[in-house]
Amino acid sequence: MEDRVSREHSAIDVPDLTNEELQRYDRQIGPGVLSVEGQRRLKGATALVTRVGGMGGPAAQSLVMAGVGRVIIAHGGEMISADLNRQVLGSEEVLGKPRAEHFAAYLRTMNRFVTVEAIDHEPDDREAAELANRCDVILACPPNFTERLRLNRAAVESGTPFIDAAQWGMTGSLIVVRPGETACLQCVYPEEPPFEEFFPVLGAISMATGALAALEAIKILSGAGTPQYGKMLMVDGFHGRTTSLELRRDPNCPCCGGMVSTK
Ligand SMILES: [Zn+2]
Repeated sequence: MEDRVSREHSAIDVPDLTNEELQRYDRQIGPGVLSVEGQRRLKGATALVTRVGGMGGPAAQSLVMAGVGRVIIAHGGEMISADLNRQVLGSEEVLGKPRAEHFAAYLRTMNRFVTVEAIDHEPDDREAAELANRCDVILACPPNFTERLRLNRAAVESGTPFIDAAQWGMTGSLIVVRPGETACLQCVYPEEPPFEEFFPVLGAISMATGALAALEAIKILSGAGTPQYGKMLMVDGFHGRTTSLELRRDPNCPCCGGMVSTK
């Protein structure tokens, strides 16, 4: 376990940008945003977003608009009416149809400079591990802990930066993990908590949480700003409160215990 180390974002390729791309991203390159180098890093990067519903949809959309070179989305099942209070990648035209390919087709219309791959199911252990090895960041947006902890495990084992996004009612939360250095999701949830399949959630908080997850991913990939590694960010929209908690690694964590950092 000790030979596992956190992957550096410097491992990302930094391809050149065309004049058309520089024009596209003109409003996000400059002081306080991205450098040209950061934008090139985004172009060279691959991001995985699992479940592209209320949170993952806006997260994937934000990554595509920002110019992350390859965005892989994974989501099984078909769109139902009750999804439309929060799932922004589909419209009423997608009702009864498989989500992943339709959502990917929509994302491709937003930015021809990026590649969008669609996976029409939730990855199992083996596929999650393979995907983690291909990716520079993982955004986990499933509603259930089985999938969230599986993706956390794949991220930690491959040393891939990991962002877990969760929502309930009018509340959203994020955990940002740098494997081997900061607490992982299983440090926070050693056992899988009980899960209710149909919980209440409002689209506005889903979108806000997904957008914040994308913002963390963009900072991690580009080198801009300060990624919130080792923290849990919570937005309690019901009461109008935001909180940031420092998380401690559990030395006995069954997922990351014993793992060492490159730093
Ligand atoms: Zn851990």
